[in-house]
Formats: sequence, C-alpha cells, structure tokens
Amino acid sequence: MSFRTIIEPFRIHSVQSLRMPSEEEREAALQRAGLNLFGLHAEEVVIDLLTDSGTGAMSAKQWAGMLDGDESYAGARSFYRFQDAVQDLTGYAEVIPTHQGRAAERILFQTLLQPGQCVPNNTHFDTTRANIEVTRAEALDLGIAEGRDPALLHPFKGNVDLAALERVLEQRGRARVPLVMTTVTNNSGGGQPVSLENLRGVSALCKRYGVPFFLDACRFAENAWFVKQREPGQAQRSVKEIAQEMFSLADGCTMSAKKDGLANMGGFLAMNDGELAQRCRNLLILTEGFPTYGGLAGYDLEAIAQGLKEVVDEDYLRYRIRSVAYLAEKVNAAGVPTLQPPGGHAVYLDGKALLSHLPPSRYPAQALAIALYRSGGVRGCEIGSVMFGKALPDGGEQPAAMELVRLAFPRRTYTQSHVDYVAEVVIEVAARARELRGLRIASAPPWLRHFTARFEEL
Ligand SMILES: *Cc1c(COP(=O)(O)O)cnc(C)c1O
Repeated sequence: MSFRTIIEPFRIHSVQSLRMPSEEEREAALQRAGLNLFGLHAEEVVIDLLTDSGTGAMSAKQWAGMLDGDESYAGARSFYRFQDAVQDLTGYAEVIPTHQGRAAERILFQTLLQPGQCVPNNTHFDTTRANIEVTRAEALDLGIAEGRDPALLHPFKGNVDLAALERVLEQRGRARVPLVMTTVTNNSGGGQPVSLENLRGVSALCKRYGVPFFLDACRFAENAWFVKQREPGQAQRSVKEIAQEMFSLADGCTMSAKKDGLANMGGFLAMNDGELAQRCRNLLILTEGFPTYGGLAGYDLEAIAQGLKEVVDEDYLRYRIRSVAYLAEKVNAAGVPTLQPPGGHAVYLDGKALLSHLPPSRYPAQALAIALYRSGGVRGCEIGSVMFGKALPDGGEQPAAMELVRLAFPRRTYTQSHVDYVAEVVIEVAARARELRGLRIASAPPWLRHFTARFEEL
C-alpha cells in the first residue's frame, strides 16, 4: 500500500466556506493592521496557518457527545467520562480539568515553586516560561545542541541534554529544583519529538534526585507516532501503548486539549501525588471553578474525552504527519529552506536563509510572512526577532537565534489541494524573496509585542 497516496482518513460532513479576498482587499487589510498578521480579521485570510491551537475540526462523535453534555455544577457525568479517558491514557490517579494548558501550568507552578528555584525542560513554551518567571523562579532550557541547528537532520531533536540536566540536579539539588519538565513534541524547538529512551533517562535522573517529573504533553500523540516510526524496537507497538509508556515515565502532566485533545477549548493537570493534587485543587477553586469542571462546560469535557480516543488513531496520525512532511518536501524540492526534519504540527520556513539581504534588525521573517499573505492570503506566524528580540541598553536589539515563519496545520481542517495551494504561494514568494523590503517597528507595547506591534516597510 505504501506506493499509494496517503489520503485524509475522513470524509467531509459539514463545511465552512472560505472567502477569497481580492488583492486590493488584502492590501487594505494589511495597511489597516499595520502589517501585523495578528491584526487581520480571519475572514480576510484564505488559508490560516497561524496556529494549530484550538483551530481543528471536531468529529461527528465529538459533536454528538457535546449534545449529551451534563452541565451539573458538581459531579457531572461528563466529568467522569473525561476523567476515565484521561486515566485510561495517562494512568494518573488525579485529574484536574482547566480551561487551557496555561491554567494547568499556573496552578502547578504557583503550588510548587518558590522564588530562586528553577525548572529544567527541553524548551519551555512561551506560556510555560512566563508562568514560571512570574513566580520568580527560573525557566531553564536544556535541549540537545542538535536541536538548535535548523539544517541538521536528527530523529529526536526534541531530546533533553541528560548530562546538562544531571549537572543542574547535582549542583542545585532537590531544594532548588522542585520539578523537571519535558515538552512532547518540543513546540518552540520546531515541533521535534523526544525519544522514549531520552524520557527514560530524564525519569531515572529525577528518581535518583527525588524530583517530580512532569510532561508538557500537548502533542503526546504526535510524539508517540514519531517514536513508533523512528525509534528502534518500537514499530510493532501501538501508538497508544507508546503514549501510555511516555506518561508512565513521568509523575504527572500539563495538557492543552486544544492540541492533541482535538478540542477547540480545554486542558488538564494530572498527577499521581494525591496531596499535591489537593493543593492544586484548592487554587483551582479560587480562580477556575469547582474540581469537576475547572472552568469548562460539561460539553467541553465530552469533546475532550472523545478527542483523546480519536487522536491515537494511527490512520489519523499517519495522514497528519504526512501532510506536514508533504508541504516541506514540495517547497524543499523547489529550493526553499525549512527547518529539518519537518515537525509534527508545522513547517518552519527559514527566513534568514531566504532573505539573506536583510539583517535581523529588518525582521526578515516578518517580511516573509507579510509577503505570503499579500501574495496568496496565507497566514503564518513569525517566530524570529519580532517575537524574541531583546532590547539592549544602547537602544539596539539582540536578535533571536533563528528567523522562522511557522506554518502550523489545524487538525483535520484542510485537504491536500489546500496544501498544494500553500506550496505554490510559498514557492512563488521564495523565488523573489531577495526583492522583499525590510521593516521597522512603528509602535509596540512593552511586552509580547508580536501580537500588537505596527510595522512600516523600508
Ligand atoms: C499551546 C501550548 C501550551 C499552552 O496551552 P494553551 O492551551 O494555549 O494555554 C503549553 N505548552 C505547549 C508546548 C503548547 O504548545
């Protein structure tokens, strides 16, 4: 069968039409938004690859479950279905629903962390880092060096540098490292997977030093699929078994159900430690809600419970990972450089290589993202010096390590011809990338400027 096209393993049951804004409309939208793609109305976009978070399509079974949602304040049937689904997958005894992944992070960190402590990870996601730093603890990135070289091929670029982790644990000890995390797949590092062998290594170190180990599990199913494909000895196991082993190596997890929960909203915090869970629930009640709904509607809990079952389906994962690789292969064949190998949820275009005539201070990846929208109505997300540039005391800016445009795939939403169209737009823009003009920031807020800054073309 392998010579045949890997097809979408679903048929379409209800549709939303795409608007096709004209060139003039797109230009007017860009000017109104100050050349910031976050300022566009979604209706002004043809193919929206801004993020894969909460943007996917739900199945008929998820919608059916939602109609059957139990909206009781306490002890709703929908909560018990949700709890069963999470326990079946993770094996964790304590399951705490939250409105998103970041709420799970905030509750865990505010319960566990003291100022001056630190939390190692492969790469902290931006909300994870911010929720650690707000407690005045330190977010330490300890990914392997291979993960920072965009062109290098490595099967598990998301792996943790075990020697570096051991040094931190040895030097600082349990008193200053109350928690170790690993993000699967490593979103900020290009959607790259972590091997089971590496997770076993992190787990063993944490046990040796008596430190709890939590997964940032947002894309656990995509990670498990890569393990099955790439790790020696794993090909015969089911993705669900691999995922269960991943969870069993940790003591708990934070999760955004907007990713591999296949839901539009929701998340959870889960763990084995009953005493810690009780402290987390006390904080949950203060700001999120009663422990059997945690800020979600009963119907959200139903959608997540069903989504967690569907996401380990191997036909789905084969199609999902293949559609991302397909876009990368098409644009690579036309000479467009991307972060290698393609990640589980997104293709990352290398703006530094494509727009080598522009220094980071002229925001080459933002210029590329604007050109993709201007040319074809495709919305991606700059992950470069607009997002991560740091102000220097002399008024200049320390640039980001890479200048990337992330094209993230909503789950089960676009078809192969949509992806073909995106490839055509990317290839057409890349062919004249050297003509693209640099940018300067006309106005920006003091933090998280990428969301609301306005730009001018030079
Ligand atoms: C999205 C994401 C989060 C935060 O989840 P939200 O639901 O957006 O709050 C945390 N970690 C990773 C790796 C993510 O991708």
